Amino acid sequence: MLIDLKENKSNFFLNFKKNFDQLYDYIIIGSGPAASILINKLIKTKKKILVLEKGSFGETFYDNLESDNFKIKSSSRVFGVGGTSNTWSQVYSLFSKTEMHNFKNKNIWPLSHKELIYWIKKIGPKYKFNIKNLGSEYIYKKKFYLRKFIEIKKPLKFSKYFKTKKIDMIVNCEVKTIDNFKKYGVAYFKFRNKVHFVKSKKLIICSGGIESSLLVLRSFKNAKLRNLKNKQAVGRYFMDHPKCYVGEIKYPKKDLIKKFKLVYKKNINTYTGLSLYDKKKRILNTYVRFEEKKFFLNFRKKIMLRIFLEMEPRFRNRIYLKKSSKKVDLLLSKKENQISKKLIKEIINFFSYNPKLEKLDFNKDKLIGASHHMGGLSYPKILDKNLKLRGLNNIFCCSSAVFPTSGSTNPTLIICALSERLSEFLKK
Ligand SMILES: Cc1cc2nc3c(=O)[nH]c(=O)nc-3n(C[C@H](O)[C@H](O)[C@H](O)COP(=O)(O)OP(=O)(O)OC[C@H]3O[C@@H](n4cnc5c(N)ncnc54)[C@H](O)[C@@H]3O)c2cc1C
Repeated sequence: MLIDLKENKSNFFLNFKKNFDQLYDYIIIGSGPAASILINKLIKTKKKILVLEKGSFGETFYDNLESDNFKIKSSSRVFGVGGTSNTWSQVYSLFSKTEMHNFKNKNIWPLSHKELIYWIKKIGPKYKFNIKNLGSEYIYKKKFYLRKFIEIKKPLKFSKYFKTKKIDMIVNCEVKTIDNFKKYGVAYFKFRNKVHFVKSKKLIICSGGIESSLLVLRSFKNAKLRNLKNKQAVGRYFMDHPKCYVGEIKYPKKDLIKKFKLVYKKNINTYTGLSLYDKKKRILNTYVRFEEKKFFLNFRKKIMLRIFLEMEPRFRNRIYLKKSSKKVDLLLSKKENQISKKLIKEIINFFSYNPKLEKLDFNKDKLIGASHHMGGLSYPKILDKNLKLRGLNNIFCCSSAVFPTSGSTNPTLIICALSERLSEFLKK
């Protein structure tokens, strides 16, 4: 059963009463990759599932978001069935073991690296992530840490997984708040200026990196989710993978760079990410890639250097609500700045014939967000190992909002792995 709140049909309430005024087994908020994987799995249990989606099929839209300090593009949050996967270019790589560690070298994720890889391998082939082709990460000349990235040019469009008659779905339905009422999870939304609600045995927030936190923040503001623990940490430890072009290497060791540079093919690109390696301590896994580019009216191809940062989880970086506006406050730390500078210096020393004549340096003002929004509902403060919100009976979250560290790889493969793991847990 599919209902579109924008259609505004007069029989809406009739349908609504008949179909939605019941107790669902699962309510899922959102319909991006995280939700798609959950649904694909839970459908097999023959339980009653309801999906609530702010956008609709076919069309997607953006929403404004104010940012303090570092800018978050409004186009980085896409609303519609399939979520952000409708527009993205699908880049993926493997999450390294150290990226799951804090700076005391302790894993702070809800699962071990071995388990994560197990789940990644399980979903990989099904959703076109070719894990085997990634090979293994390795240390190069005791200086750099290397791993392969793959970019599939066509968006994966997870919307295709929603064309099923076995679930109920309400589109153009923005969930405003949620609550935990006795044994039920409840989702509230507006229709014709009135607030309606639906209830379920389990409610799963799959509304993306930023929106998942905003939903919980809005719920507090409306005196809901009273029993949630560590409320002060909601919206905190927010992270992105800031990126920018650093510039051209003027005297490149071309034969050496050739081994790692971005290779353009028809449907797929590949490249190597180079980070700093330190045997003794955990350092940020900020990486660079080489791109050989031909510019207009220029006969010589330029070797461009591009950087992608790992951010550290910091309490000060946050998503928050201020009066009627949604805001993000993200500031680069000293450590993030230093590692980026050091990495570029080492790259130049190693890959240029003339390091002293190179003028490249890291300039944090050039950075832009990579549309990878992580943290805000981080494990372990807000959620337990099974991604259930602490203090609540039946509300779960699966999105990059739960990430305790950002690493520097693109997040969707990890979100998908967590989603597969959560679906196994829910089935039990
Ligand atoms: C331009 C761009 C390029 C990207 N490139 C890559 C890449 O190469 N590799 C990679 O790994 N990742 C990439 N990403 C990030 C990737 O798209 C996200 O990590 C991924 O889509 C997250 O999946 P999700 O299911 O958690 O959330 P989303 O895909 O964001 O889906 C969230 C869903 O929830 C819905 N929703 C939100 N709030 C509500 C609400 N209140 N009520 C009801 N529904 C709601 C939304 O409409 C949406 O359908 C890119 C993102 C962008 C914008």
